[in-house]
Parts: sequence; structure tokens; C-alpha cells
Amino acid sequence: MARYNDSVCRLCRREGMKLFLKGDRCFSDKCSIERRNYPPGQHGQGRPKFSDYGQQLREKQKVRRIYGVLERQFRKTVDEAAALKGVKGENLMALLERRLDNVVFRLGFVTSRAEGRQLVRHGHFKVNGRRVNIPSFRVRKDDKIELTARGAKAARIEGALGALETRSMPSWLSIDKDLKQGTILADPVRDELTLPIQEQLIIELYSR
Ligand code: SF4
Repeated sequence: MARYNDSVCRLCRREGMKLFLKGDRCFSDKCSIERRNYPPGQHGQGRPKFSDYGQQLREKQKVRRIYGVLERQFRKTVDEAAALKGVKGENLMALLERRLDNVVFRLGFVTSRAEGRQLVRHGHFKVNGRRVNIPSFRVRKDDKIELTARGAKAARIEGALGALETRSMPSWLSIDKDLKQGTILADPVRDELTLPIQEQLIIELYSR
């Protein structure tokens, strides 16, 4: 499957904001946005002007990059969100937030969604007692997320859990640090997404 293999910091610079794709480095002064906050490339320091379509496209790319979702899967998620009751944009964000790679990141087992994706793929997590190695797996209310025997030995997870106090936990999740067990308390809350995302622009883009 096609994957983006270039520097992920370029993606942040393209979107003009921190997308938090590199774990601890994103919080340090080594972050590329801190050093060179302009788009990559020869004309990066010019002043970009976006049409309505351009703005919608950038918003879609931004969200796709934050969650590490490829175009086809993202399109499918937008269609699913549109078929649900309620505000389509909010449904979209809730579906993305419920991805297992995002949830293990939010719970503090890993320092980035990309790391979450990798460790889920490597079989480090169980959902309700069963090993799940599909990063796009969607959790539901009352699900329990735990480590497999392999996950319990992973130094990266141990390190991330050690820094848990420095992370803010959304109200729809809770973690028992001693048991290393996370619980989904409710559906994701839109207002707790701290990144500036205008999801209605994405819905408009796909409604063209
Ligand atoms: Fe983005 Fe993190 Fe790279 Fe900064 S360090 S540019 S937030 S991926």
C-alpha cells in the first residue's frame, strides 16, 4: 500500500501548523515549525493565496495527515459520516478519533499517532481481551484497551506511560496507569479537539 515516506515535518510546514507527527520532538525547539514556519520548496516564502477550493483542499489534507489516513480510506470515512445522523463534519471527526491508533495515542501509550499505528500493527494491543492489529479498528463506548504480553515488554510504551502526567486526557477516555488499561467512557467530544480544524470545509469539498 502506498505510504508517505518523506520527512513528515514538511507536511506540517505545508499546512503552516504543528500536526504533532513526531512525538517528543514536536514539543522541543527542534520542531521545524519553530525554525522555518513557511511552506517547503523554492517558492515557500512567497505569500500563498487560496481559492475556496484551495482552502477546502488544504483542510482535508491537514486532517488526513494528522490521522495518517490515505485518500481512499478517508473518502470512505467521509461517506460513512454523511450517512450518520447529526452534523456530518462532527461525525467525521468522531469516526477518526475512534480509530485504535489514535486512541492508544490519546491514552498515552505512545507519543504520536504514527507510533500508535506501528505498535498496533505489531500486535501490542488488545481490545476487550482480543489482540487487534488493525490501526483503523474503531473502538466503542465501554471498550477496554490493554497491552498484549509483547506490548507489556515494549520499552517505548513504558517510556510514554512514564510521561503520562504531562499529557492531557480527553474526558471520553480514562487510563489506569498501574493496570496499563484504558477505557472508552463515551463517544469522542468535538470540543476537545485542540487543533484548529474546520471540518465543514472538508464536507463542502466532497459535496462538490
Ligand atoms: Fe510537525 Fe512535529 Fe515536525 Fe514540528 S517536529 S514540524 S510538530 S512533525
